[in-house]
Amino acid sequence: TLPPIHADFYEMDQKLSVEDRTLQLKVRSFMEKEVQPIVNEYWLHDEFPFEIIPKLAQLNICGLTYEGYGCAGKSSLMEGIIASEMARTDSSVATFFGVQSGLAMGSIYHCGSEEQKEKWLPKMQKLEVIGAFGLTEPEVGSAVAGGLTTTAKKTPNGWILNGQKKWIGNATFSDIVIIWARDIDDDQVKGFIVQKDNPGFSVEKIKDKMALRIVQNGLITLKDCVVQETDRLQHANSFKDTAKVLQKTRAGVAWMAVGCARGAYENALAYTQKREQFGKPIASFQLIQNHLVEMLSNLTAMQTLVFRLSELQDSDQLKDEHASLAKVFCTLRTRDIVSKAREVMGGNGILLEYNVARFLADAEAIYSYEGTKEINSLIVGRSITGFSAFV
Ligand code: FAD
Repeated sequence: TLPPIHADFYEMDQKLSVEDRTLQLKVRSFMEKEVQPIVNEYWLHDEFPFEIIPKLAQLNICGLTYEGYGCAGKSSLMEGIIASEMARTDSSVATFFGVQSGLAMGSIYHCGSEEQKEKWLPKMQKLEVIGAFGLTEPEVGSAVAGGLTTTAKKTPNGWILNGQKKWIGNATFSDIVIIWARDIDDDQVKGFIVQKDNPGFSVEKIKDKMALRIVQNGLITLKDCVVQETDRLQHANSFKDTAKVLQKTRAGVAWMAVGCARGAYENALAYTQKREQFGKPIASFQLIQNHLVEMLSNLTAMQTLVFRLSELQDSDQLKDEHASLAKVFCTLRTRDIVSKAREVMGGNGILLEYNVARFLADAEAIYSYEGTKEINSLIVGRSITGFSAFV
């Protein structure tokens, strides 16, 4: 008999309470039963499986770490575990959830007024209102901190927004989008809750992606789009406030990378135990075992790193450079793991039905979004050298 596949090699899950472990297994079961059977088909057709939303809502995990507004007030560690569990089956569904729970709800939770929180968060927590986060622009990606060209002008009739936002996850069907724009008068970045039926707001789907195909990314155009002061995030006064939201979600992306790597590793290991060549399972060959051990070593290093990252977050010690280092390390290692997973599966590794090709493709997007490897490395570089390479 073969040993069970055990991708939590250093037993990190032992650190969880019984209650948290139960929630983790509930999310795992949801992903395996509800998402796994349909995911390759949706990925292939570049569509989103809306039927999972009510079932996902029942798990009661949206806005998991926030206090009040129907949210569970749990630890960042648990939030990370859930991101990883989702990505272990599918990184697109994990991304949809991360945009909703982290980027969109997080912007309102961290930067909104009490009224704005009361108005949106309980419905977003139940996934009755879907949110998106519009920061990146067609011509401004890495340089968003100082370079946003989308403008906001205050007038007696409200704020007038003009510009474009590219790559905005969930935007094709979201009810609201948090739009980040530069205030023409004081040159500071401000955040706005823009509703989909707002005149002057339009979205075009970005088609033919080769990664995270289930995530519906949009190109948003804002043409004299009027937003009332009541929909301006009242505590977002500069890009520093935007960065506060991103610090937390970057930590979440590191956890997602762990899940993506774990899913690929588990599928690849199971395949090598079954697949026979030269009259033996390929898992019995030394070179294949070496690949598998390299994958597991990287995965284990990532798992221990993100656990510590969440401990720092839960004790309010998380700094930008902590989140950036984890995002760089985990997404880089994941790229390596998914590539090795494909390698040990030979030709079948590129077929969707063998469940590694999707991980291989999706890892590319996770590697680049929420700050590329270079940008997150420069954030760490600035903190260890004392010199900023950005300017
Ligand atoms: P660029 O900034 O053009 O960078 C191109 C290359 O140049 C990269 O390798 C980069 O590292 C490098 N580079 C740039 N500046 C430097 C420098 N100073 N030194 C060294 N190298 C440098 N954005 C949102 O606002 N909301 C979303 O929901 C969202 N979802 C996304 C989903 C997907 C699938 C993808 C692919 C992107 C998403 N994004 C979203 C945008 C994402 O955050 C950006 O793609 C990312 O920040 C990189 O920007 P860019 O693609 O414009 O690349």
